[in-house]
Amino acid sequence: MSTEERASVPRDARSGVRSRGGAQLFERNCSVGRTIAIVSDAWSFLVIREAFFGARRFEEFRTALGLPRGTLSERLKRLTLRGIFRQVHYSAKSSRVEYHLTRCGMDLYPSFVALIGFGDRWLAGPEGPPLKLIHATCGQACQPYVACSHCLAEVKATRVTYRDGPGAGRTPLEPMKRARRTAESANFSRGRPSSVSRALEIIGDRWSFLILREAFFGVRRFDQLQSELKIAPNILTERLSRLVARGVFERRKYQDLPERHEYRLTEMGKDLYGAFITMAAWGDRWLAGGDPPLILTHRDCGHDFSAVVICDRCRKPIEAHAMRYRLNYDPARFGAPQAGDRMERIFVDAAPGED
Ligand SMILES: [Zn+2]
Ligand SMILES: [Zn+2]
Repeated sequence: MSTEERASVPRDARSGVRSRGGAQLFERNCSVGRTIAIVSDAWSFLVIREAFFGARRFEEFRTALGLPRGTLSERLKRLTLRGIFRQVHYSAKSSRVEYHLTRCGMDLYPSFVALIGFGDRWLAGPEGPPLKLIHATCGQACQPYVACSHCLAEVKATRVTYRDGPGAGRTPLEPMKRARRTAESANFSRGRPSSVSRALEIIGDRWSFLILREAFFGVRRFDQLQSELKIAPNILTERLSRLVARGVFERRKYQDLPERHEYRLTEMGKDLYGAFITMAAWGDRWLAGGDPPLILTHRDCGHDFSAVVICDRCRKPIEAHAMRYRLNYDPARFGAPQAGDRMERIFVDAAPGED
């Protein structure tokens, strides 16, 4: 970490994860956490999103997002190291490269679609969802949903049981590099209005995400959250009030003397579940080395499953190369220079990802 990055981290964010008295802190192994760690970096997220919109060249990313060259170059390099992009030379003679999504990168698409669905349902505002999705496979406008890979029925949080998988356990907690929520959340909305951005503004900071994950495990009380996450009380208080204000939790009194409250997921909060298990499925496939930390069982059909995102019209899995979109906004309002000719096109020009 550079001195500059260190200086940008507020004191409270640091103290929340610093080892106390020299003791190392540990966190649950979690494929969602590993996935969030990649996509919740606002710049990385935006770069991947523009790749789904067809960007491949450095200048295409740069004009779409208006990022400083150094920042863009660093993120492209990092995402290439992580196996999300691969570099392809323009031609045999050229030293310049394009950035193509690998299969691993393309496979993030269902997670984006699950986040789009959540953002569309809860955060779209009076103008409505920014994008209309069209499934090229069946030719229909669709609203994809998160389904059980075994029975293809929609998955609800209350209809799933968990057990430890081969990758279960705890890993030393890495220090938080920066306070994303305060420093970066405004950047999520660069370039175009996006339901994924809006969803990530809620769950994209590390603590908010961890609190939500514990809520899906049934943890509701302040002291339980504190002991499970080893989070500083002031940070926990701040994140919980923010999640209440955003409509994800409601605060309910469960005891009078002394007065105690618990935090229950609202309908909106529960609706994040689909995006969570979709990101978990990606993390299991690409980041868990074949050892998923958690195995999910669908109570409706009785089978272990992973999350799949399917078209509500034809029930086929959603894949990046088979989706088109229509913009429900005027790109010029968001400073997109070449947006005029992109009003409707395939997400990634029918090129399936390669390794
Ligand atoms: Zn099922
Ligand atoms: Zn379809």
